[in-house]
Amino acid sequence: MLHISERLAALSLSETLAMSQKSNELKAQGVDVINLSVGETDFFTPDFVKEAAEKAIRDNFSFYSPVSGFLSLRNVIAGKLKNENGLDYTSDRIVCSNGAKQSVCNALLCIVNPGDEVIIPAPYWVSYSEMVKLAEGRNVIITTNIEQDFKITPAQLKAAITSRTKAFILCSPCNPTGSVYSKEELKGLANVLAEHPHIIVISDEIYEHINYIGKHESIAQFDHIRERTVIVNGVSKAYAMTGWRLGWLAAPKEIAAACNKLQGQYTSGPSNVAQKAAEAAYLGPQDCVETMRQAFERRRNLIVRLASDIPELKVHQPEGAFYLFPDCSYYIGKSFKGKKISNSAELAMYLLEEGHVAAVGGVAFGAPNCIRFSYATSEENLIEAMERVKRALVALELNITKCDVANS
Ligand code: PMP
Ligand code: GLU
Repeated sequence: MLHISERLAALSLSETLAMSQKSNELKAQGVDVINLSVGETDFFTPDFVKEAAEKAIRDNFSFYSPVSGFLSLRNVIAGKLKNENGLDYTSDRIVCSNGAKQSVCNALLCIVNPGDEVIIPAPYWVSYSEMVKLAEGRNVIITTNIEQDFKITPAQLKAAITSRTKAFILCSPCNPTGSVYSKEELKGLANVLAEHPHIIVISDEIYEHINYIGKHESIAQFDHIRERTVIVNGVSKAYAMTGWRLGWLAAPKEIAAACNKLQGQYTSGPSNVAQKAAEAAYLGPQDCVETMRQAFERRRNLIVRLASDIPELKVHQPEGAFYLFPDCSYYIGKSFKGKKISNSAELAMYLLEEGHVAAVGGVAFGAPNCIRFSYATSEENLIEAMERVKRALVALELNITKCDVANS
């Protein structure tokens, strides 16, 4: 019998990736599933980015890069932070990794000691709480609800802080809710943090460019917070480059140096070709980013309209990212073929198996009454998917036990 370490045994599987995999398995069996589970854009990486990658291959970028990434890329990122965010960073404070996911994990592994508390507002992205566990920290979850726009208040943050608080993870625009903190709201949180200089802020800004309410605001803009903020970002979402695996963090020097040391022992620098592609993405024409943002906004409007038409689903208007996170509590507790659906993960499974729409139950996001639909897919798919969801939920309501709700 082989024993997996206790550290790993305590870890949950990534629910976003698991639901996507299940959906792909059903598709492979010939079932016509619409996959709204994984958060990944359906656009292709822009041609000028692909050309830069081809050139990198031809130019023999085939040797190890520096662990933190090429200086040229880190300078380009510093330029992006200056031009787009008005923030001054030197290249030695930037560490490039295999996706923003690794950047968040690097930051946590570098700052959290066993037993340290990490404050995470819920609903949260599935991997944060698991990464905290990996770092042997303790998750301190602040709950919010749809009525408060899924955003925490300064009073809630204050109440969650203890002498053991090591870090606070903020995600705006937020996955899974699509909520975006305004400058005023960030200032309110920054004011609370001002009284607790030992707390490090991890600001996940991967959805920076997918924002429907205006300019992106970073909590790092407040002087007293900047020197203890780790900004996490990357090219996955803005430039349709999820599979290239290139993310980065911008941090205080000590944290960047620690991430460099950590990464030097377990992954080295990210792929050279992806680095050269990311450099081109940031330096090239930015109209592709706006074109995709506008498409997401149209899809957001469409899915909000369609979902609002489903009885008893409580719908919240997302202001950024590409997820809809309705409250589906009305349907929890109902039964299908005599089997009770007792939480949103089971509801997601019901929608997949009977409605042939893949979504992710809110349980994995710390919001058991909600369900996440990623709308990073065509309008045609969204129309069909929401029609199926409606039929499946109405069938639950009426206690219809017809086998194939998808085609009824
Ligand atoms: N943070 C959030 C909030 C995300 O949704 C994602 C998406 N996977 C990531 C980080 C990681 O992005 P990447 O693909 O660059 O690893
Ligand atoms: N961020 C995406 C999501 O939430 C990608 C999947 C993942 O990395 O977990 O679906």
